[in-house]
Amino acid sequence: AKPKHQPGRHFLQIPGPSNVPDRVLRAIDRPTMDHRGPDFGRLGREVLDRLKPVFGTEGPVIIFPGSGTGAWEAALVNTLSPGDRVLMFETGHFATLWQEMARKLGIVTEFVPGDWRSGVDAAAIEARLAEDSTHSIKAVAVVHNETSTGVTSDIGAVRRAIDAAGHPALLFVDTVSSLASIEYRHDEWGVDVTVTGSQKGLMLPPGLGFNAVSEKARSVAKTARLPRAYWDWEAMLGINPTGYFPYTPATNLLYGLNEALILLVEEEGLPAVFARHQRHGEATRRAVRTWGLEVLCRNPAEYSPVLTAVMTPDGHDADALRATILERSNMSLGNGLGRLKGRVFRIGHLGDFNDLMLVGTLAGVEMGLATAGVPYTKGGVQAAMDYLGGNR
Ligand code: PLP
Repeated sequence: AKPKHQPGRHFLQIPGPSNVPDRVLRAIDRPTMDHRGPDFGRLGREVLDRLKPVFGTEGPVIIFPGSGTGAWEAALVNTLSPGDRVLMFETGHFATLWQEMARKLGIVTEFVPGDWRSGVDAAAIEARLAEDSTHSIKAVAVVHNETSTGVTSDIGAVRRAIDAAGHPALLFVDTVSSLASIEYRHDEWGVDVTVTGSQKGLMLPPGLGFNAVSEKARSVAKTARLPRAYWDWEAMLGINPTGYFPYTPATNLLYGLNEALILLVEEEGLPAVFARHQRHGEATRRAVRTWGLEVLCRNPAEYSPVLTAVMTPDGHDADALRATILERSNMSLGNGLGRLKGRVFRIGHLGDFNDLMLVGTLAGVEMGLATAGVPYTKGGVQAAMDYLGGNR
């Protein structure tokens, strides 16, 4: 059958890839340049410098052509040796996938079980590290914003727990869905490797993976023995100060990254970006509560400003609701991942996003609840508008 034209813009309200600003799309839509030519070095240096405040670091940030998954692997293979022990937390689907990757690479993982509705328990980290008197645990790896659940973890508290135990473990943090959306301080929190991707808070298409690397991590990398080739940091760090890369970089995505960083850091300003996400998160939760539905995240201190995972009532399949909304309103929402399949839908409120886009998003959900026959109370969109109107 002939594809049907859907007038108006598609609403891409999954929690990443997020909406890409038109200015960023236009920056990408330029002739590809010689990545060894004289103009490229300037672009490379600009982008690598502009990234630093977003990570909250004075140290180097590495950009790989790849995705967040590749950046996960880079963090592990540069710093660890076969049989090394890593402490990880089951905050949800992404923490589980990172843990499975570590195992496949020959790392021994201790995976603290979780309920997929809560963040990392820093006290449990402190207790476990305090017991580890031989320092057999080489790293603690946590997810800052668990995209499958809409739950954040307090990275500063994880740092304090490691210090309180007097333990030398490295700290790895996945910020794939938090960086440039939620305040983050790589240096201040003593993070050794920060992992992220391009397609969420950085408002780019998918295709780049990042590592911010501490001096300690770089020094440990000298003796780490897991095999690595493509992901080897040193090849990058050797040439990056000149603005060049050891192999062909994703040139056009770097044009886009430079433009996105101008928007985020220089024009809107990161504090305003973070506040915008907080405000949209609160408005969304007010809508959800008015509908009489439950937010998956248990603890208000851990609510995600990036996305809200909403539980559907028993007997009502969240995927059927999402399919109705896609068909009727041309809007994509995030599905339930792993053990949450069919039980939740996820509303992304990240990236290039404003009040009217949020109201449209919530209207699409509210109409979808009615059409799909999910029991709810009217007025969620109104509750969100009342909050947004009173909170500029
Ligand atoms: N970590 C988190 C928290 C994510 O949300 C994702 C993807 O959504 C990943 C890791 C994996 O990143 P990618 O899909 O870019 O490989």
